[in-house]
Amino acid sequence: MHATSGNVFMVVAPSGAGKSSLVKALLQQDPSILLSVSCTTRAPRPGEEDGREYRFIGTDEFKQMRDEQRLLEWAEVHGNFYGTPRDRIDEATRDGHDVLLEIDWQGARQVRQRFPAAIGIFVLPPSIEELESRLKARGQDAPQVIARRLMAAGGEIAHAPECEYVIINQEFSVALSELTQIVSAARLRFSSQAVRHAELFAQLGIPAAH
Ligand code: GDP
Ligand code: ADP
Ligand code: 5GP
Repeated sequence: MHATSGNVFMVVAPSGAGKSSLVKALLQQDPSILLSVSCTTRAPRPGEEDGREYRFIGTDEFKQMRDEQRLLEWAEVHGNFYGTPRDRIDEATRDGHDVLLEIDWQGARQVRQRFPAAIGIFVLPPSIEELESRLKARGQDAPQVIARRLMAAGGEIAHAPECEYVIINQEFSVALSELTQIVSAARLRFSSQAVRHAELFAQLGIPAAH
């Protein structure tokens, strides 16, 4: 692994907690973070564009990518396959860029095997009732799909302890500010600063971390 390895952020949440809205707002503030575009076999929602929210592919193509080891991780979530293409992530982190993945807990576990320093951020809804009303208000999923996602929410939330950070998305602006602070804190860690400011660290005679 190259010395200038960028941060890998994983945002994990039950469907409807506000993960995609928070990530979108974060990236508007800070376009230097590379958002991983997952492949999925789920059908596009109204307004979703191939290559932007997801790469929408068929099951055969998904299985081929998986079998050719072209996915960093993959999982079956709510009856569809989702996976993170490996190529851009490897390249970006090697070049020192921060990358962000919106993935489920099963995927987060797999990413940690390759990137042990990956930073997990779990987004919680303020209550299950609020989660339900957000899924309904989003108005993009059929009632059976919403029911299925609500049934799965408890199972996803049970994996919150596997993440380093937790954000409760009650007031959106507060949650966004918290997400921004997590990103800033990660960038200020000794290991990141020592790479970014290698020259200054050398001038000041700061020894390498052990
Ligand atoms: P949302 O949760 O309402 O945004 O619904 P989506 O259909 O976009 O995503 C469904 C689930 O799939 C979520 O739990 C995501 O975390 C998960 N997911 C999306 N992309 C990936 C991926 O590339 N890999 C894995 N493992 N999970 C993914
Ligand atoms: P996820 O990606 O986790 O499934 P979304 O980002 O699509 O969630 O958010 C689900 C719905 O809740 C969207 O309609 C979004 O506009 C809304 N939402 C997100 N955060 C908040 C918040 N803090 N307060 C009220 N509504 C919110
Ligand atoms: P949605 O279908 O609502 O866009 O996403 C549903 C869930 O799939 C989300 O909770 C999201 O975290 C998960 N998901 C999306 N992309 C990936 C991915 O690439 N890998 C994994 N493991 N999960 C993903």
